[in-house]
Amino acid sequence: MNAAKTCGRLLLLTIWLALAGCASDDAANSALDELVASMDPAERMADPEPATSIDITMREIAGADADALTQIANVEAFWIDIGSEIGLTYEPLDSARLFPRSTLAAIGPVSCTASDQSLELTAELTSFNAVVANCPQEGITVLWDDIDLKAFLDRNFPEAGFAQLIAHEWGHVVQNQLEAVERSTLLEEQQADCYAGAYMRWAESTGTEPFTNPRARDLAVLSILESRDQVGASPTGPNAHGNGFDRIRAAQEGYDEGVAFCAGYDDAAPPVTQMEFTTEGEAAMGGNLPFDRALALLDPTISAHFQGLTDEPIDSFVQLPGEAVLSQQHAAIGDGAVAALLGLSYAGAVQLASDMDTAGVPAALQRACLLGTFLNRALAGDLPVATADGTSLRLSPGDLDEIITSLTNSPAVLANPGLVFEMVSAVRIGTIDGPDGCGMTA
Ligand SMILES: [Zn+2]
Repeated sequence: MNAAKTCGRLLLLTIWLALAGCASDDAANSALDELVASMDPAERMADPEPATSIDITMREIAGADADALTQIANVEAFWIDIGSEIGLTYEPLDSARLFPRSTLAAIGPVSCTASDQSLELTAELTSFNAVVANCPQEGITVLWDDIDLKAFLDRNFPEAGFAQLIAHEWGHVVQNQLEAVERSTLLEEQQADCYAGAYMRWAESTGTEPFTNPRARDLAVLSILESRDQVGASPTGPNAHGNGFDRIRAAQEGYDEGVAFCAGYDDAAPPVTQMEFTTEGEAAMGGNLPFDRALALLDPTISAHFQGLTDEPIDSFVQLPGEAVLSQQHAAIGDGAVAALLGLSYAGAVQLASDMDTAGVPAALQRACLLGTFLNRALAGDLPVATADGTSLRLSPGDLDEIITSLTNSPAVLANPGLVFEMVSAVRIGTIDGPDGCGMTA
């Protein structure tokens, strides 16, 4: 690590504040409810089965609560166990450099010193936040808000939210223990999310709480969605963490592929879908078209896309949600929710027209994946122009997160532990791989 690098990287800030706000609503989401109504629980992804047990070493940390002690011990056991896969011999941090916010409030700021720079790490810095500081003299230092942020996470994402937060922060610890690499802030965060996803899979395989229950996997995804950057925020900003889609993509890639894949982000950066508003008008509308305009543009465009996935005419198989449902979802979530519901309906029509299975979990996940194929084309700027006036659609900031929010907002989905994770994963695969990833070729 050279001096200039160290100077510039004294602090890695992670803000888990709910910047965007969650557009959850209890209103019935009938299309999604139908999507999962026929599911046989026996077909669901199996509950995680611990394959191995692991030694967890607890330690004393001044002022830390039992949950923090447990999660830190767990994630350090993970890196001791798995670090060699990325060339790391993990070194447990000095207990004297781990600070809950309540301790900082009691003892006052602590110093973080480099050769040419010194920072004071304060309780205020840690408010609704967690921080990893690379302090060359004192050692890597971790601070977390054990008051407001902990309470927020425990209330909304019991156990899993805080576990994900600690796993994400330890991703930054590992970045600091490894040889210094020049990365954008966003890439630092994407990699930390990816490492946290790999931790979740390891925790399942070792019977480590809370990830012995697939519901925890869902809550982890939902906590990441909640902590996304504000809609329209720059992906190159100094605090960029990513939109919900990108953050969840990174975590699921870590879950699926493991830590070596995450480390590989340094050689091949993952695709970034976060985008800024391009006009003041777009920003003023939050990137959302008025409902009537959204429906008039989305319906023919989505119809044309899905017709292109099969040689069989799909029109007679299409059963769209009622306008009342679409309008309610538009108001609650945004125009991305309208795209999600229409897309799932047209995907069902493709399955019926193509004489494919429509019942059960695999068919439901295929519909979610096919919805992703529409996003794949939208991201490529390649949507069909099918409207009467020749207007073409393009994605605006927030659309992808609205689609994920819509998918994860269904009472029927939420009632099936593990299904949030699977649905989002299916959309992600269709979005990244196109129809081939969904068992179809265009
Ligand atoms: Zn971070």
